[in-house]
Amino acid sequence: MKIPSLYVHIPFCSSICYYCDFPKVIYQKKWVSSYFDALKKELASFSLESPLFETIYVGGGTPSSLSLDELEELLSFLKPFLLKGGEWSIECNPESFDKKKAGLMFSYGVNRLSFGVQSANDSVLKKLGRRHCYLDAVNAVKSAKEAGFTNISLDLIYGLPLESEKEVENDLLALLQLNPAQISAYSLIIEEGTRFAYQKMKEADQDLLAKQYERICVLCEQNGYNRYEISSFARKGYECRHNLTYWHDESYLGIGLGAAGNLEERRYVNSRSLSEYLRQEGRKWETMPTLKDKLECYFLTNLRLSDGFSLEDFLRRFSFSFLDYFKEETDKLRQNGLLMVEKGRVHASSKGLYLLDTILMTLFCAKVMEE
Ligand code: SF4
Repeated sequence: MKIPSLYVHIPFCSSICYYCDFPKVIYQKKWVSSYFDALKKELASFSLESPLFETIYVGGGTPSSLSLDELEELLSFLKPFLLKGGEWSIECNPESFDKKKAGLMFSYGVNRLSFGVQSANDSVLKKLGRRHCYLDAVNAVKSAKEAGFTNISLDLIYGLPLESEKEVENDLLALLQLNPAQISAYSLIIEEGTRFAYQKMKEADQDLLAKQYERICVLCEQNGYNRYEISSFARKGYECRHNLTYWHDESYLGIGLGAAGNLEERRYVNSRSLSEYLRQEGRKWETMPTLKDKLECYFLTNLRLSDGFSLEDFLRRFSFSFLDYFKEETDKLRQNGLLMVEKGRVHASSKGLYLLDTILMTLFCAKVMEE
């Protein structure tokens, strides 16, 4: 089986943001080398026929929280696994990124950086528990560009309680001024176990969120960024190839704390406990997906994309026709203006992308899902 993509999770962070429920731990030098050993063992355990990937994505956590030497060890371990012409992304935080790290990553062939900027407003950053200020983000992007990076993505969080549409707009305009290749905009979700959840913080009102999201879409579009996925806006040719693997529901390997993998007939998620992972008892669960699981996963991923999926691809994967088996549901969703079927593709309308849960629930309740 050909596996196009590798995800590598680096769980270390210099502090914990108040909204974060990713697998992470506070950076401690003493854990890094055993963590790297565990990553190497985990990757070797898959006994891959062809250990070359079209995309590698190093996420976290905060990969840039590693020291220069640690970063170099990680880069030299991963470099042989990238196919020529492949995409290699690393997530970075502005406060732990500098010219030296930028130069090192570029020299090893990393060709895409994703910065967790989140806001251009220092008081918002403080409220989120971020360690950087906006100037750090400006300097980080500058260092990345000076090192040679052209494919830079910036993350934005919107939907903070009491945040106005205008404030979100100002944030986005500031990020656009940095001229990134991509903007990813996520609404704040209060996840269990986070500091915000303990503080009983409430998510923003749905109507306000919808207005903020719409404003983001319009501004990105006006500035030459195409919404190719619900939260992702990219300049032409800069769509993240790695993330497209997920959204096309293709196979990928994930290694590291809490990482997940999709190997067609086998799906797994690693433990989020660092000690378990270091002891190589890190596989939390592993399943053989049923047809229902596969269909759900296919819709969950592909329908996030503006151009959805092709009827041909669906037929090739499932050996039955989408329009025959989901006729009733498709008709209903089309009548409601949520789903479109055109030029051999099925995709959510602009309204449908925002109301994706309604589309998914309708499809998940189809009769074929129970058979
Ligand atoms: S830096 Fe990222 S991974 Fe680390 S705590 Fe903050 S949001 Fe979570």
